[in-house]
Amino acid sequence: MLALIALAALLLLPARAVAQAGSVSDTGTVTIHAATLLDGRGGSRRNATVTVRGGRIVAVTTGRAGRASSSRATYELGTLTLLPGLIDTHVHPGWYITSEGRLHRDADADSPATSALAMAGNLYATLMAGVTTIQSVGGSEDLPLRDAVARGVIPGPRILTSLQPLADARLSADSLRALVRLRKTQGADLIKLFASQGLGAGGAQTLSDAQLVAICSEAKSLGLRTVVHAISAASVRAATLAGCSQIEHGMLVGDAELALMAQHGTVFDPQVCLVLDNYLRNSEAWTRSGFTAQSFDALRRARSATPAMFARAVATRGLVIVYGTDAVALAHGHNAEELACRVREGGQRPMDAIRSATSVAAQALGLADRIGALAPGLDADIIAVDGDPSRDVTALGRVRFVMRQGVVYR
Ligand SMILES: [Zn+2]
Repeated sequence: MLALIALAALLLLPARAVAQAGSVSDTGTVTIHAATLLDGRGGSRRNATVTVRGGRIVAVTTGRAGRASSSRATYELGTLTLLPGLIDTHVHPGWYITSEGRLHRDADADSPATSALAMAGNLYATLMAGVTTIQSVGGSEDLPLRDAVARGVIPGPRILTSLQPLADARLSADSLRALVRLRKTQGADLIKLFASQGLGAGGAQTLSDAQLVAICSEAKSLGLRTVVHAISAASVRAATLAGCSQIEHGMLVGDAELALMAQHGTVFDPQVCLVLDNYLRNSEAWTRSGFTAQSFDALRRARSATPAMFARAVATRGLVIVYGTDAVALAHGHNAEELACRVREGGQRPMDAIRSATSVAAQALGLADRIGALAPGLDADIIAVDGDPSRDVTALGRVRFVMRQGVVYR
């Protein structure tokens, strides 16, 4: 199925590109008009037009652009709401379920071509869901995927990748520093590391405090951000004190760790629903992939606890919360479910959920001057949804228009 989607994606690309070329005016200027616009920074506007040229936003105005108020925009989107393309700060585009019904592994029967198509399908599904930038954390397959998207060979979101994460607690501090430098030369955009066990194993801290300092300080000196898998309170505390940039999961954090992250400016990327729901509702595929009854028990326990943890995070003064779904196989394209759930079950304000997936995420990724808002000078990563997500956040699941860097894909 995914391979089929990937194939469809590949076949669609030239048609989309032609449609786009045909709709550009002589000056190369494109206008998009809709009833409502959310700028990604908390601002909103009715009866809005965004003007795009050369892949960038050149103006955001009220009413219709052009001399006559009756002049039609290139894209008349009626009652839809425009907003910046979503930024998902934790995705695994390389994860897919094989034709044998289990998670793809390096040594399985799938050919490289089959794998590549499945991964391209994941990227296509993600882009169609309105996600125009992802941070993949990560695998070696990300490099050709990132470059294929950047060259326009396949449709997908812009990709930042950590390549292979760092996790080996047997390595010395010096070896870990060397590994950070190696990732940089391999082309990584950031460093992903595991400071704790997985959820099912209990989530205890694995890398020592000194090892965490070695990795996060070396990365910082090279200008790379560090994104840390940390489940237990102790591992979150250690990674925060080590100066790492961003904490993933944090399912067992207490109020003290949340306050500590806020104090240190450490970005928090908790997953509340989608990744857990995806495992639970596709239990057959995950059982074939090696999950046990114990795994599902741990997932169910986590699922019942995460909304309360998230509500405490939202209530923590000064804590920067970003939107990372941890989308794995079968979750690609369902990314917006996480935002809806954060609002419904975790009590986040819809506008704050939107900001966490746009301007706040862009800031966390160091890309605030490129993406995350509808403002002049930024890349034309623009989506439109059916409804006003600042009032009904489920509208983010009804994506009707997707433009990335000025190219319309949906
Ligand atoms: Zn993950």
